Amino acid sequence: MIINDNIHFLYICVYFFPVPRVVQRIQAVPVSGDPQSLSLGCQFTAVFTDYTVTWTRDGTVLAEIKRSAGDESRVCLTITKASNKDLGKYRCSLLCSHGSVILDYLLTYEVLSDIVILANPQKNITAAPTELVGEEEDVKCSCLLFKEDFLSEQYFDKNQPASLVTEKEHFGEGMHRRAFRTRLKAGMVPVFTQGHHCVLKVHNAISYGTQNNEELVQKNYNLAVEECHVQNTAREYIKVWTAVAQTQDAFGEVPEIIPIYLVHRPSNDIPYATLEEELMGEFVKYSVRDGKEINLKRNDSEAGQKCCTFQHWVYHKTEGNLLVTDMQGVGMRLTDVGIATCKKGYKGFKGNCATSFIDQFKALHLCNKYCEILGLKSLQPKPKKTVVPKPKPTQPVTKTKKTIGPTLKSKS
Ligand SMILES: [Zn+2]
Repeated sequence: MIINDNIHFLYICVYFFPVPRVVQRIQAVPVSGDPQSLSLGCQFTAVFTDYTVTWTRDGTVLAEIKRSAGDESRVCLTITKASNKDLGKYRCSLLCSHGSVILDYLLTYEVLSDIVILANPQKNITAAPTELVGEEEDVKCSCLLFKEDFLSEQYFDKNQPASLVTEKEHFGEGMHRRAFRTRLKAGMVPVFTQGHHCVLKVHNAISYGTQNNEELVQKNYNLAVEECHVQNTAREYIKVWTAVAQTQDAFGEVPEIIPIYLVHRPSNDIPYATLEEELMGEFVKYSVRDGKEINLKRNDSEAGQKCCTFQHWVYHKTEGNLLVTDMQGVGMRLTDVGIATCKKGYKGFKGNCATSFIDQFKALHLCNKYCEILGLKSLQPKPKKTVVPKPKPTQPVTKTKKTIGPTLKSKS
């Protein structure tokens, strides 16, 4: 009686074997030697019968693995050539005769870009691109100018005629925009020289669900303008910070956020874009936590650490209401930065990133030596001491409850 035997065995399992347990929940890790892949893995124990592990994403089965009793090695799912398309909710289910376990994991863009080298704008540019051939295009460029209170007083300068030759194929793609190499043939003097290697970034307004052409152009304009406001405002902040940092001899070189310009392309279907200098060299993103490069090498760098110090300084200066985010670029030269502000905005300025970035920064930022040089206080709660030292009798015993770092207050 096979059936009865099976049932009998099941009873033995249920009564005598503990249910499977989780040793390690799902984690995303790099795949050694393959910078474009990532691996999701977890580990179980107390699996005393043969079992099946099933991986799904958003309900679709991706893999089913049969395993023998007692095999407690890590269970992995490798995602090769990982891209934005692989984002979503992953589930790993273990099923055996004496129990089941379900683990969920949300693969976010942050984690993905942290592990995998994505085809981001300007990522890993090699120097000296080939000569561009193509039609010259007449455009108008405009520079964002600031008055003394740079947050609330920003305006575009009058248009300057310029002429560009742009590559047909984009070389980088971010979440909402594409980057094209372009060569300045005339105009924009003295900011650029003739033949300057530049990058034209075009927002894809279609992905925002706009319908008619008028709406599309309006959205395209708004996005390009927002980009100019954000990056150039961040640039103003870093200028002020530079002056502060340079009062300390030990600080050394200071990172720069490069300026970007608004471009009107009357002859193009998507008429607005931004223009900036092309940064030559390896493009890296710096971790918000410790400034390490977000790639497989995870190099520690002076530029990355100084970026974090700059973020901390702005956070402190604005009492936790504004944060410059997405610190990235080539060495000390940064671009594609973002700004997060508190929900209501800060002094009339609203950023392009979620307010949650500010909380995340507060939770993750680890001060480095450059924070120390500038006298910035740690944002992390001090570890609790196990032994409470007795107060010295000579000192007054005042118990001041200290808040760590500037608190996140919503304005008024
Ligand atoms: Zn710090």
